[in-house]
Amino acid sequence: MFRAKRCESCGSMMYSAAQHAMGNAKSPYCIHCTTPDGKLKRKKEVAADLVKHFMKAEGLAREDAEYRARRIMVKQPAWKKVREAVIKTRRK
Ligand SMILES: [Zn+2]
Repeated sequence: MFRAKRCESCGSMMYSAAQHAMGNAKSPYCIHCTTPDGKLKRKKEVAADLVKHFMKAEGLAREDAEYRARRIMVKQPAWKKVREAVIKTRRK
């Protein structure tokens, strides 16, 4: 049985191998966070995708979507050591 895992970049759940990069269940990242050849995208690209996703799927305002994306990404293993600031903080 397939065990659902969290993408180590964006924190979203992956319920099948098809949701992993290149359909490979061993990849720690999801298809949205990787390029077609399975490499992790730049941090700011992942952030931009997440923001778009929250705005579209959940109807959040840009500011709220950015806040949420940032909160999620700071906790992900993929970005722990990446100090690239991708989203401006407008809220405390
Ligand atoms: Zn992801």
